[in-house]
Order: sequence, then C-alpha cells, then structure tokens
Amino acid sequence: MRIEGQWFDGRRAAGQSCSLWLGQGRARLEPPLCAGCALADLAVSAPLGNTPRYVTFPDGSLFETADSAALDAMLAMQAGGAPAQDRLQQQVHLLESRWPVALLCLALLAASLWLFTVRGMPLLAETVALRLPPAVSNYIGRDSLAMLDRLVLQPSRLPAERQQQLQALFGGLLPPADAGFTFRLECRSGGKAGANAFALPDATIVVTDELVALAQSDQEIAVVLLHEIGHVQHRHLLRLLLQQAGVAAMLAAVTGDITGASEFVLAMPGLLAQAQYSQAMELEADRYASERLGQHGLPAAAFGAILQRLEASRPGGREWRYLSSHPQTAERIRAFGLPGEDS
Ligand SMILES: [Zn+2]
Repeated sequence: MRIEGQWFDGRRAAGQSCSLWLGQGRARLEPPLCAGCALADLAVSAPLGNTPRYVTFPDGSLFETADSAALDAMLAMQAGGAPAQDRLQQQVHLLESRWPVALLCLALLAASLWLFTVRGMPLLAETVALRLPPAVSNYIGRDSLAMLDRLVLQPSRLPAERQQQLQALFGGLLPPADAGFTFRLECRSGGKAGANAFALPDATIVVTDELVALAQSDQEIAVVLLHEIGHVQHRHLLRLLLQQAGVAAMLAAVTGDITGASEFVLAMPGLLAQAQYSQAMELEADRYASERLGQHGLPAAAFGAILQRLEASRPGGREWRYLSSHPQTAERIRAFGLPGEDS
C-alpha cells in the first residue's frame, strides 16, 4: 500500500516527491530517502480541517501528504493497529468536524471576551492606573490641550481680571501638593464644546467661558472644578485609555491581527477626545466633590443648580463628549442628597 506526498529532511526547506509504503508492521519511503522503521515508531499528526497530514520518522524527517483520507484508511488496515495519534489533536478534530460544537465554542468565546471587556478590563485598568506614577499621566496628557485647541477650543475672551479670580478660586480647591499632580487651570472659549469643563490626564483642567457665564455664582464654578479635580485624582482618563488599549491588545491576541493594535496606538489622540467616562466614574468624581464641599464652605445646592443649568444648555443632546456622560443628572443630584428636578 502506498500514498503520494513530499519528504522533508528537516534541514532544507525544499521537499522531495516520494511515496510512503506501509506493510507488515513497517514503514518506508520509495525512493528510500530515509531508513524505514517500525510502524509503532512513526508519529502521525491528527486530521485538522483540510490541513496536510504529517508522518514523522524517528530520525526527525517528515513525510507530508494532502491525502488525509487515504492515510487514515491505510493506517486502519495495518495489523497491530496504527501508531498512536496525539489525543488532544484528535479531540480538536472531533470538535472541529461538528458544526454545532464549533458554533457553541464560538459563542462561548465571544461571551467570555465580552465579559472580560465589560467587567475584567475596567478592574484591571483601575488597578494599573492607580499604581502608575503621575508622570505617566503627564506624559500621555502632554499634547492633549494643544490637540483640543486645534480641534475645538478658542482663546478665552474673559477679561484678564476675571481669569485671575478663577485662578485664585481654583488654587483654593486643590488637594495637598503631595498628590503628585501639578494642577493647572486653563480658560478657553468652548466653541462646539459650549458650556463645559474637563480634566486632561496631566491634571490640566479646562473651563470654558460659556460655563463661567452659565454659572450664577463662583460657588457653582467651584463645585464643577472640584468634580474635575476628582476625575484627575481618580485617574479616570488614564483608566479609560488603559481599558481601550487593553481591549485592542486582547483583540490582537485573539484575532492575530497586530495591525489593529498598532492602528489603535496611532489613533490615541483621537480616542482621548472621544473618551467618555462611565457612570461609575462620574459618581466617583461627584463623591470626591461632595466630600469636600464643607471644607471649602460650598453649599450642596450649588451642585444641583449648575448641573441642571448645564443640562438645559445642551439642546438636542449635542454635547462635547468629554462631559457628555452626564445624562442622569437627576440621579446624580439625588446621590448628592438633594431632590432632583424630576423626582
Ligand atoms: Zn465628570
């Protein structure tokens, strides 16, 4: 009995055409490119989809054939049975050749990826972000203000005197210097971002002229600034970026497509602009602010007042995404211990 294929000596890349002969418990090649051996000394790869099969000789040389069915038939007819195939590979073949099983595995894989993305990755990102030194945040955030200036923001039109008042207000709200961040307040005209405030990873906090105009008191501005300081202290933006990077890396690992991951790195500045805090992060920043209201002599009512006015200032829901995750205003006001508008 014989079967056609290619023989590889394991040293040269090119193969040589030959036939594999099996009979009387022995295997040999025709022409005799390598020494024959007992059937039991052969290693035969298990069938795997439509991939070629390999028969490995004791000297390490390899016979490759595309005729999987003929190889199986030939092995089955040998007295004394076929050489043992790898048990794991056999099971893989068994699973692969059954559609429902393959679909079920695919569904399980998708479900576990989803679960890890939604639950595991944020947890992992939080753990990593809180252990990274502020220098990492500074590095990541170093170009973000310049990018926002290019894309959305315009120079502030507030008088210099008003800007100085805001700087003084901001200075009084900052945590002790040992937090490791160098906080900075930047005033800008909001453009598309409108009445807004947001924190960049390097602890720069931007407040727009429109927000300053919208606030009916400096206490309202102070509460917003505290909330943004809370985002910095909890490293929220860094956590978001780590999550997205982690998801990209995981997709690259699963799909084997590394270009996807490198595209992600190139798209980093864009992602920064698109970053959207989760509801949990918003509540965390709110909590940070609420815990410090008393210390700065601010009334809790200021928070609800400015939030509701901010929400009303965004007709049609068109809003800058840095602060766009504030739809549950009423819920957040309740969390502050105040009655919400619609409660
Ligand atoms: Zn926020």
